[in-house]
Formats: sequence, C-alpha cells, structure tokens
Amino acid sequence: MSQEKKCSHDTDCEDLRQRFEQLRRKAELFEIMAESSVDWDVWYAPDGQSIYITPSCLDITGYPREFFYQDPDFITTIVHPDDLEIFQEHRRRHYVKATGPAEVTFRILHKNGEVRWVWHQCQAVFAADGTWLGRRTTNRDVTALKQAEAELQRLSTTDPLTGAYNRRIFMDLLTREMQRAGRYGELFSLLMFDIDHFKMVNDQYGHDAGDRVLQEVVRLGMETIRQADTLARWGGEEFMVLLPRTDGDKAHAMGERLRKHVADHTFTDGCHLTISIGVTSFSRNDTVDSLLKRVDEALYRAKKSGRNMVVRG
Ligand code: GH3
Ligand code: MG
Ligand code: MG
Repeated sequence: MSQEKKCSHDTDCEDLRQRFEQLRRKAELFEIMAESSVDWDVWYAPDGQSIYITPSCLDITGYPREFFYQDPDFITTIVHPDDLEIFQEHRRRHYVKATGPAEVTFRILHKNGEVRWVWHQCQAVFAADGTWLGRRTTNRDVTALKQAEAELQRLSTTDPLTGAYNRRIFMDLLTREMQRAGRYGELFSLLMFDIDHFKMVNDQYGHDAGDRVLQEVVRLGMETIRQADTLARWGGEEFMVLLPRTDGDKAHAMGERLRKHVADHTFTDGCHLTISIGVTSFSRNDTVDSLLKRVDEALYRAKKSGRNMVVRG
C-alpha cells in the first residue's frame, strides 16, 4: 500500500517537475526574444505604467529603460518639440483605451543630441479570457530609412551639378502655383536667365571652369532670391526663378538685383560675366505654355538688345 502511494507521489512530482521545466523554458525563450529585440518595445498596463520595456531603448534614445519605468511620461521629454503635438494626439486617441492597431512616425532627440526618426506602432493586448492587459507598442529607429528617402527626394528634384531644382520639379511647382494663383486671384512672376557668351568661358577656361561658373551663378541666384522663391536649372546655362505673390515691378527689380550681383562678381577662375533676363507675370488667361513662351521671348529680346539686361514680356 505504502509502496503504491510512494509511486503515485513520485509520478506527480515528476509531472510537476516537467511542467515547471517546460514553463521555465518557455519564459526563458520569451525573455531572450524580447531582450534581444532591436526595437524599443514597451508594454503599458491599462493605468499607463510600463510593465515591460526592451533594453534597445538605450540604443535608440540614449537613456536606459529605468528612466522609462520610473516615469512613463519620460518619452514626452525626448519627443522633438515639432512632433510633440502629433505624438500627444496619438496618445490621447489610443492610449488607456483598448483600441486596435495604430501607428505614428515622429522624431526624438537622442541623449547625444542627434535627431532620430521613430516609427511607432501600438495595439491593445488581451488575456485569453478577454481581460484587457493594456497596450503593446513598438518604437523602431527608422532614421536611416528617412535619410535615404530624403536623399532620393533630393536626387530626383535637383540638378546634380549645381544643386538647383531640376526642370521636372520646377514644372510641378509652376503648375501648382498657377492653380493656386488662379483660385485665389493672386499674382506671381517668372524670371528666365541665361549666361551671356557662356560658350567663351568653356572655350577659354575649359569645361570644368564652366561647371564652376554654373555652380557660382546658382549660389549668386540663391543669395538674391527670397526664401519663398524657387530657382531651377532649366537646361545648359539657362535658369528659371518662380516668384510667388510678386508683381511685374517687383520681379523686374529682383531681376535687376540679380543681373547686377552677377555682373559685379569675380568668378573663381578670375573671369567676369553677365546674364540676360526675361521677366513676365501671370495673368488669368495664361496656360503654362503661354507663360513660358512669353518669358522665353522676353529673354530673347534681352539678348537681341545687347545682353546684360532685364526685359519684361
Ligand atoms: P548667348 O549669350 O547667346 O547665350 O551665348 P552662349 O555662348 O551663352 O550660348 P550658346 O547656347 O551658344 O552656348 C551655351 C554653352 O553652354 C554651350 C554648352 O557647351 C555650354 N554648356 C551647357 N551645359 C553645360 C554644362 O553643364 N557645363 C559646361 N561647362 N558647359 C555647358
Ligand atoms: Mg548663354
Ligand atoms: Mg542658352
């Protein structure tokens, strides 16, 4: 009898030991998985306290997870001030509520002073019996991705030699400006300029010197125009400037300033040169083509009339 009892007791113990070992293994597995996450994951309890934070928050933010455990609001002190409103709005809508998956992308200020982009995804989590257990969030450092996106955007919109906007993006901006001006009855103007006798620069100083001149002309242009204006390389040694909310007189004055700025400048290779400028302003019946034709004709007349001048069309 006692032998039987002992036997059943031993079997129970062995079962328990095995179940305990299984659970321990499972816990260990999940812990290894969570602790080695490259993402900064956080599990918030329904009351907003952090139940669990992955150690990667140190890499992503520069602060150890203890900071975030002690103060669940600590994150708001490192969100970039310009993104704080969208981050707070996200929290108001989704935190302390059992809502489905949601995401938001924002910048944080890393402890070392760098700006990092974070993609944040979160969703409510529930126990098997349906009890709401709070919110699981993932913060992924997408800085490299954002930088690559910005670089791609820069490459697709700018001219590689001068850094000015390219013709394609200029056409997009011009079309948008025409729609805006047409809708609100506003004015805008265009300058088109071309370097005078540029072929001679290439012939006399070489093609590389010609390239440097193009770069310097763009720099002089950027120094002259206002922040709202757009300078683009139209082709070869021809450039366009879009001047929003600018009438013909103001555009002409801007053209004069630019013409003089270039004429007064001594270029890197010691040469002096001038530009000819056509100016025109948008009127209600214009199409993109009619506007471009008019500014091109004005530039042509500036060339015909002796160069180094600004002509209105
Ligand atoms: P005009 O006063 O009538 O404008 O005379 P121009 O010599 O400036 O005009 P033309 O159209 O005869 O010559 C333009 C020259 O610009 C020819 C071309 O080789 C040169 N050019 C165009 N693109 C580039 C470039 O990217 N780099 C350099 N170095 N030269 C360029
Ligand atoms: Mg020229
Ligand atoms: Mg030309």
